[in-house]
Amino acid sequence: MDSLLIGPATRKQVVVASTCALLVLLALTLAGQHARETLPAVAPFMPMCALTVFTTSGIAAFLLGARFTVTQQPMLGALGGAYAFTAITVALQLLMFPGVFTRTGLFGAGPHSAAWMWVFWHAGFPLLVMVAALVRDHLPGRPVTLRSIDRWTWALIGLPTMLAAALGILVIQANLAAPFYAAPDVDALPGGRLGFVICALDVLAIVVVLIKGRLLTVLDLWVTIALLASFADASLNLLTAAPFTLGWYVARVFSMLAPGTLVCLLVWEVTVLYRELSVAHASLLRTSTRDALTRVYNRSYFNEQFRKEFDRATRNGQPLSLVMVDVDKFKDYNDAFGHLRGDACLGAIAKALAGVARRSSDFVARYGGEEFVLVLPDTKSDEASAIAEQARLAVMHLGLHSPSEAGQVTVSAGCATNEYNTPGTPDALVQAADAALYEAKRTGRNRVRSIAPPQ
Ligand code: GH3
Ligand code: MG
Ligand code: MG
Repeated sequence: MDSLLIGPATRKQVVVASTCALLVLLALTLAGQHARETLPAVAPFMPMCALTVFTTSGIAAFLLGARFTVTQQPMLGALGGAYAFTAITVALQLLMFPGVFTRTGLFGAGPHSAAWMWVFWHAGFPLLVMVAALVRDHLPGRPVTLRSIDRWTWALIGLPTMLAAALGILVIQANLAAPFYAAPDVDALPGGRLGFVICALDVLAIVVVLIKGRLLTVLDLWVTIALLASFADASLNLLTAAPFTLGWYVARVFSMLAPGTLVCLLVWEVTVLYRELSVAHASLLRTSTRDALTRVYNRSYFNEQFRKEFDRATRNGQPLSLVMVDVDKFKDYNDAFGHLRGDACLGAIAKALAGVARRSSDFVARYGGEEFVLVLPDTKSDEASAIAEQARLAVMHLGLHSPSEAGQVTVSAGCATNEYNTPGTPDALVQAADAALYEAKRTGRNRVRSIAPPQ
């Protein structure tokens, strides 16, 4: 099955994505100008953002991994790995952050451990997205079996996850010094060289995605937006590392946008696929219950539905009538005009019969060959005979020329009714209608006969 993500982007999708890209750049420009303005301190803002990034990245990683197992598109699996890496690094950053869970951070974190996890998170994401863009369509050893696709999923998602965990251990064990230049001078760029490197990695990743994908697929468009959000996040951190400044707040919003974009995209895909699936299912149900030649219901629908109607009628104390219709001397018709015209004739007859069964609970089915049944719930014997007579006349009014004595195509009909106050079975009702039809044939054809089912 093809994923919509790797399908070609429509013009509308390009317009929406381009608008989002412009909005990100506009927000970055505006926030960049006032990045160092201090705003009221909202202490839970950072943990809240980190938790959001962790959750959305985790969801994105899971959904992308699942898509990879279905589509076998390496880019999806590798992107899942990039988001798994983000989820683990941001979680470790939050756990190690001084003052969130404990005063100095969990796991015996040093004063700069959380800052280093931030660096690994922001550098690792564009690097891994670049890897995803580079491996986009190439899984070695194709065609891939189900077992090997599982192994690839573990490799593409599991390795970045382990890498993130390993970096967490390294950060704690090595007790690293501050990753950024301490910048007492407000005009200096607090993000320092590392900040530049991270921004450059984001730009490089955007370039690689653009070159490899040329923005042709929906995924290419939105991965670019995610990278742009990541770049905006890193750029604002380059301008100000001081907490509770405008740049700091907006950077955190951008950091949520990078995984949020992909999650929205994946949810959009699920929604569209769900809609397509329900349409396909409805159409499958329709075709599986219809007779291919005549478009009325088929025998298996009749078998199932007739029993249901019988039970309903018995439960509700209502009569149920069955009319069995058979085309007269149809073999002669086929012999004279050929089977193709015979088929067309059956189609016209079925349509005429369907026009007679007007109530929503009534239905016509092809019982087999040139035999049809009309199921008439809550219809008494005399009413059923009248409808059968209407059916016989409707076929005559088609005026289909026939080599028979009548000179035109006619039908015979047998009616039987299960009255509400008499016990019976669906089979007995079918047998009674069949017997009535036999009687109509025996007494000259092109007529309606009724019979009471045996008690
Ligand atoms: P009677 O009045 O006794 O019913 O005579 P009959 O010729 O209609 O009955 P018989 O059972 O001898 O023949 C039924 C014919 O219906 C034979 C078969 O070729 C034709 N028939 C059954 N199904 C189809 C179909 O799907 N298409 C066409 N063209 N003919 C069909
Ligand atoms: Mg027949
Ligand atoms: Mg016949």
